[in-house]
Amino acid sequence: MIYIKSPTEIDCMRRSGEILRDCLLFLEERVKPGVSTKRLDEFAHDYIVRHGCKPSFLGYGGFPGSICASVDEVVVHGFPSEKRLEEGQIIGVDCGLIFKGWQADAARTFLVGEVGEEKKLLVDTTRESFFKGVEQFKAGNRLGDISNAIQRHCEQRGYGVVRSMVGHGIGREMHEDPPVPNFGKAGHGPKLQVGMVLAIEPMINMGTWQTLEDGWKCVTLDGKPSAHYENTVALTENGAEILTL
Ligand code: MG
Ligand code: MG
Repeated sequence: MIYIKSPTEIDCMRRSGEILRDCLLFLEERVKPGVSTKRLDEFAHDYIVRHGCKPSFLGYGGFPGSICASVDEVVVHGFPSEKRLEEGQIIGVDCGLIFKGWQADAARTFLVGEVGEEKKLLVDTTRESFFKGVEQFKAGNRLGDISNAIQRHCEQRGYGVVRSMVGHGIGREMHEDPPVPNFGKAGHGPKLQVGMVLAIEPMINMGTWQTLEDGWKCVTLDGKPSAHYENTVALTENGAEILTL
């Protein structure tokens, strides 16, 4: 069931979103060659707790960190580790928190030092496709309009759109209805209405869309890099509002 939020509830989610936005900016400054993803996870955890929030990922289904740290060919759900980042890598940092009972969920793909043009273009296109999706998040449209806009933007550029992982509704729970795929048919799916809050999150591969999962970690089948970009977005009377940006 899709849970429609009142303006007051969206206002609470706005505050959660702001804290998460700032947490990701805080992490961005700390992404550089030589830093371990475990260290980034500690930074995130401290930041979240210091701001009176709870890290929503930690312990979720047994997940061991407050961020997912997904380097290069890892699509999503990488565990933070002692491994140090290297120049030229890209790292997807996905983070979630709960403030006064309300969830926020967002991800960025950061560049580690100097990164080649091919990877930069993948990261840029993934972010752009999110905004193409958000343009379609308006009352009266259908969910498939969002999905299709993301898919078209990425496939036109020759990229693979991940099928095995999708976005989701969000609110009191991190994962609510409806699922929000990054692929699909325009004009199909649930009708979009004011009060919906969605985590829209394109996961885009440089090569094939196919992936492999080992229970947690999701990697590209061909070993080519993948990028991820996510925000929590509310549909209000004034249109789509990105709460984590
Ligand atoms: Mg996320
Ligand atoms: Mg999400």
